Amino acid sequence: MPIDAKQPYDDSNIFARILRGELPSKTVLETDHSLAFHDINPLAPIHILVIPKGAYVSWDDFSARASDAEIADFTRAVGDVARQVGADAQGYRLLSNVGKRGGQEVPHLHVHIFGGQPLGPMLA
Ligand code: 5GP
Repeated sequence: MPIDAKQPYDDSNIFARILRGELPSKTVLETDHSLAFHDINPLAPIHILVIPKGAYVSWDDFSARASDAEIADFTRAVGDVARQVGADAQGYRLLSNVGKRGGQEVPHLHVHIFGGQPLGPMLA
């Protein structure tokens, strides 16, 4: 069920629990302000989620409240992960679902990195 991206941050969400170490995840990269880990239900040979460590629901929430250091770290983490897993060589796709119409299920800002195969025009 997609979430309302304007809802207050709910720190019981799955990614908050992963950040607190309450749920396991397969870490790809951890930085001061970001964490990247494999999606539990991969839709492509490479399917990684990159999240800020801070409590942000959406991009508009993030851009309004995050520090420049957090924004720089998160942006850099996305590129670094793509390079680290070799997705950069043949190309990849970034996707970020926001709110009800965007189909966001987990109410913590995240970017999907898809790669490892030709992706076609869209990957739902
Ligand atoms: P959304 O639809 O919100 O953009 O994507 C949420 C993503 O989180 C989905 O691709 C889903 O497979 C992934 N996901 C949900 N629960 C877990 C979990 O417990 N661990 C990991 N690693 N990924 C999860």
